[in-house]
Amino acid sequence: MTELIDTVADLTDLRNRDVLEAALARVIFELAEVSRLSLWRVAGDGAEIKLRERLSLPMREGPMREICLHEARKEWRECHAGRCYVSGPEDENGMSRHIFPLCNEREVIGLMQLLRPSRLARIQEHTVQGLLRVYRNHLGLLDYGDRDELTGLLNRRTYSAFFKQIVCETAVHAAIAVVDVDFFKRVNDQFGHTYGDEVLILLARLMAECFAGIDGLFRFGGEEFLLVLPDTTQEEAWVALDCFRAAVAEAKFPQVGRVTVSVGFSMIQPGDSSAAAFGRADEALYLAKHSGRNRVKCYEELVLEGYLPGTKHSGGEMELF
Ligand code: GH3
Ligand code: MG
Ligand code: MG
Repeated sequence: MTELIDTVADLTDLRNRDVLEAALARVIFELAEVSRLSLWRVAGDGAEIKLRERLSLPMREGPMREICLHEARKEWRECHAGRCYVSGPEDENGMSRHIFPLCNEREVIGLMQLLRPSRLARIQEHTVQGLLRVYRNHLGLLDYGDRDELTGLLNRRTYSAFFKQIVCETAVHAAIAVVDVDFFKRVNDQFGHTYGDEVLILLARLMAECFAGIDGLFRFGGEEFLLVLPDTTQEEAWVALDCFRAAVAEAKFPQVGRVTVSVGFSMIQPGDSSAAAFGRADEALYLAKHSGRNRVKCYEELVLEGYLPGTKHSGGEMELF
């Protein structure tokens, strides 16, 4: 009992979602005497829902797996659709299978599968369910402070800390992009604020689909979004961002019809600051707007081409171009 209370207290101390998820998995693995645990995140939307493996206990060699939900086991699909615990029949190795949904306040965000040599005892099932409720409530509190209510993307407040983590953790190649909806005032003027809001929600969804697996998607304010793309070269960032731009341009927004976005991006420099990196991407966005909108512009390319002067970055040094 004391051990369980300590466990819950430890979980609610955590602020980082990945660490929280890993701690939850470890605790359940031990408390429910599991032989193998795997945790999968739900990505995508509609017919294209995918499950991406996040962790496996005991640790497993090899790359993380990905499967489409409609190709997943029946129990997994039932668990996702019903948002409820589902246990399956024993498999060929005599292991019993238990699938639990990981939910936030809005939807199922992941699935946890437990394999054990025997069925879960009632008390173990209750304990796991209880821990998952603690996880969901704690996530709700974290989301309340960190997420934009309309789109569910991260809000501006969380950007600096996220950026610092990326700069510290990732190798040199990471990009930051600012996305602004073109002529959005007209959307509001012509169709009203509610349809304007609907466009923002759909844009955020499209962004989450195009950049599935990337955590750094922010609504920065109004109709402006910010993306931090880790492990990305300049060329790869351009391709991914232009793909998103094209997906928006091709999408049909209810009532409103076509909407386009302009994008400016810059590569994150070693020792960069969040403000300086945002500033460079924003300068590129300004030129994307002024060269016709519905396009992607890269700060470093614009400097090379002489459209922008190299500016100072956080360290106070001039960037050398
Ligand atoms: P540009 O192509 O130059 O970006 O033109 P624009 O009309 O999009 O200009 P601007 O970016 O200055 O306009 C932003 C508009 O976004 C102003 C405001 O009415 C609208 N807006 C800001 N926040 C929200 C929101 O939460 N919901 C809705 N519906 N509209 C918003
Ligand atoms: Mg704007
Ligand atoms: Mg705009």
